[in-house]
Amino acid sequence: MVVRPSEFALIERYFRPLAADPGAFGLTDDAAVFVPKSGEDLVLQADLITEGVHFFAADPPAAIAAKALRVNLSDLAGKGATPVGYLLSLALGPAWTEDWVRGFADGLAADQERFRVTLYGGDTNRSANGLTISIAAFGRLPAGSIVRRSGAAPGDIVFVSGTIGDAALGLRIRQGTIDAMPAGKAADHLLERYLFPQPRTELAPTLRRYATSALDVSDGLMGDFAHLCRASKVGGELDVTALPLSAGARRLADHDPSALTTILTGGDDYEILATVPEPDADSFAAESAKTGVVLSRIGRIVADAGPPVILDHDGRPLRFQRLSHTHF
Ligand code: ADP
Ligand code: MG
Repeated sequence: MVVRPSEFALIERYFRPLAADPGAFGLTDDAAVFVPKSGEDLVLQADLITEGVHFFAADPPAAIAAKALRVNLSDLAGKGATPVGYLLSLALGPAWTEDWVRGFADGLAADQERFRVTLYGGDTNRSANGLTISIAAFGRLPAGSIVRRSGAAPGDIVFVSGTIGDAALGLRIRQGTIDAMPAGKAADHLLERYLFPQPRTELAPTLRRYATSALDVSDGLMGDFAHLCRASKVGGELDVTALPLSAGARRLADHDPSALTTILTGGDDYEILATVPEPDADSFAAESAKTGVVLSRIGRIVADAGPPVILDHDGRPLRFQRLSHTHF
C-alpha cells in the first residue's frame, strides 16, 4: 500500500513554502489578508484546468503547475494588470502520489520566482475522477486603468503578440490528427507551446498606456476577436497574410489546409490581442518591442458591427464552422 501524507501534511510540506507574504499567515489560518496600495485597483480572475481537457495526466507535474498558473497570469496581462498572488484549489485524482505533489509544487515555485507572484491560500480536496486545478489570481494596476474588451473604435489597428496557433497545432501533433509533420525542432517548438503558455506579463504597462481594448487569446483568435468586437460594438477585418506564424506553423499551414483553421480557431495561444488608435500604432509596437514582446499588426476595426472577418490572400473572407474552442 502506498503511504500518502494527510491533507494537512501536504499543505505544510509543499504549499506553505510557497506562501511567503506575511498576509498568508503561513497557511495556518482560514483566510489571508492582502492590503492593496492606495490609488491601485486589484484585478481578479479565475481559471480552472482539468485532466484530459486542458492537459494530459502523464504530463510532468511541473508543466501542469506552470500551465495552471500561467493561464491565469495571461488573463491578468490582457487586462493590463501586474500579477501579485493567487489562491490554489486542488482536487487530486484517485492515483495521486506525494512525488507528484512535490513536482507540482516545484513547478509553482519556479514560476512564482519568474513572474513574481506568491500563494495566498486555497483548498485541497479529492476527486473521484481526474485531477482538477482551480487558480484564482489577482493583480494590481493604477486605479481605473484596467483595459477592457469594450473600448475598440473604428479605425483602430488590431495587434497580436507573439505567434498564433502553435499550441493548438502542438495538441494536434500529440493527438496524431495532423498529416504533415514538421521537422524535429519546429515540432518541438509547437509541443512546447502547448505545454508552456507564455503569459505576456511584460506587456501590461504598455497596454494600459495605449490600448483601447484588449484580451488574451485563449480559445481561438477568431472567437476571441469576435468577443472583443461584440463588447466594443464594432466590426473587424483581419488579414491572413499578416498573421505571425512560427516556422512549424507555417510549414503545416502550407501542407495541410486544416492547419490554418486550427491556427485561427484553435485554443491555448495565450497571446494578447489589442486595439490601439492608428496614430499610436507605431509607438505601441516600438514600446512593446523594448519589453521583449513582439507585436504584429493583423487588421483593423471597422464601424459596421457584426462578426469580424479574416481576408485570404485574394481579399475574400475565410469561413469557419466554428470560431473557437468551446467546452459544450
Ligand atoms: P478549510 O477547512 O476552511 O477548508 P483548510 O484546512 O482546507 O481550511 O485550509 C487550511 C489552510 O491551508 C488555509 O489557509 C488554506 O488557504 C490553506 N490551503 C489549503 N489547501 C491549499 C492549497 N492547495 N494551496 C494553498 N493553500 C492551501
Ligand atoms: Mg479546505
